[in-house]
Amino acid sequence: MTRNGKKIRPWRISHVTGEFLDPDMESRYLENELHNVAAHVRTITNILGLLFFSFIIPDWFILGPGLHFSIVLSIRFLSLVFMIYVGFRLAKSPTVTGFIRLVTAAELIFTVLFVLTFALYQRSDFLIQAFGLMLMLSAFYLVPNRFLNHIALSLLAIAVFLNVAHFTIEDVSTMHMLAGTIYLILITGASAATFSRTSYRKRRLFVNNQRLRQLAVTDSLTHTYNRHKFNEELWRETNRYRRTGAPLSIVIMDLDDFKAINDRFGHLQGDRVLVQVARAIHKEIRVTDIFARWGGEEFVLLLPATATPQAGELTLRLLRLINSLHLESTVLPDFHPEGDPEVTLPAEEKRVERIPVRCSFGIAEMQDADTPETLIQRADRLLYQAKSDGRNCIVTEAETLRCPAS
Ligand code: GH3
Ligand code: MG
Ligand code: MG
Repeated sequence: MTRNGKKIRPWRISHVTGEFLDPDMESRYLENELHNVAAHVRTITNILGLLFFSFIIPDWFILGPGLHFSIVLSIRFLSLVFMIYVGFRLAKSPTVTGFIRLVTAAELIFTVLFVLTFALYQRSDFLIQAFGLMLMLSAFYLVPNRFLNHIALSLLAIAVFLNVAHFTIEDVSTMHMLAGTIYLILITGASAATFSRTSYRKRRLFVNNQRLRQLAVTDSLTHTYNRHKFNEELWRETNRYRRTGAPLSIVIMDLDDFKAINDRFGHLQGDRVLVQVARAIHKEIRVTDIFARWGGEEFVLLLPATATPQAGELTLRLLRLINSLHLESTVLPDFHPEGDPEVTLPAEEKRVERIPVRCSFGIAEMQDADTPETLIQRADRLLYQAKSDGRNCIVTEAETLRCPAS
């Protein structure tokens, strides 16, 4: 994401608005927030509606029985019905834009109704009305909305209120007018500041949660999914298999003679091999395939909607890719070819070598009688068969596949 030619890191949050600078990230956050507040939004809107309606009591004392009271009662009743409707709409299946529009529209309508009711009072007390508006404005900040919408609405409400007060209340003193204005501005400022700080902290938490969630499912060396995540996905996919009957295959792979790679080139080079193998596999598989590090130098691949023959074809491509990885490294100076500390490599043999990367695979396809555990066990048995069949090959229930060149 760029703004004015500058790159924006997606997790940057504005200190002023408390919102993400990256609009995509902000939308993602609001979607998540909406999902969280959907259950409470009806309660909040109902409370706000009832609160506004409850002012009918002071209305009665101010207006007494008559036409004006009936109009105010109708306005208050209609706004209560409107708030209940807004709550119902928001709780149903809101989109971010829909939510923001509806909340802003509701707040705007409330502001108009407030001023309208106030204009109907014959002899209103300016300060009492100013307190009412303060209460309403601070209540607005309880509902999620864009920061700028909140500010714009508050300022608009204050401006309209002061204008109407100026024209409808004759005996309001300059002192009261000034005090009311200052209090209204201060309460808006305090609410906006609290809202912005809370927004900022909530977004920081959101980013941290996302990072933690990512860490919890990722293998730190290869950046593939870890075993925990794989087990979750395996459970999901085997359930899907039961529901839909679409084929599901699993591939377990184990790098050949990996201990020898570590011994000859060192653990760091061994790690490099693991990273490069994972990277190569990631590039080749579909986004719907689930690839994870099973542990050590073993990986596992879950292939939804894939039967054994297609899984075999893909795995053969993977084997070819793995075999063609061109990784070079210096042989360790203290490498002992026979594993005997007395036997060391002759000086002329201490040179840069290509690291041979080989791999064995076992492929099993889910059957009706399988559980996730038995599916893994069957693939694991086939992998061990691949190891005993000479390594660097693929064993399915039907056949053994090898790269022509190997
Ligand atoms: P085989 O062909 O039978 O699979 O032989 P192998 O040497 O690959 O198997 P073995 O189980 O004897 O050795 C596995 C080695 O993988 C031993 C272990 O030190 C190494 N290993 C496991 N995890 C890591 C890792 O994260 N980094 C590195 N560098 N090595 C690892
Ligand atoms: Mg192993
Ligand atoms: Mg191995």
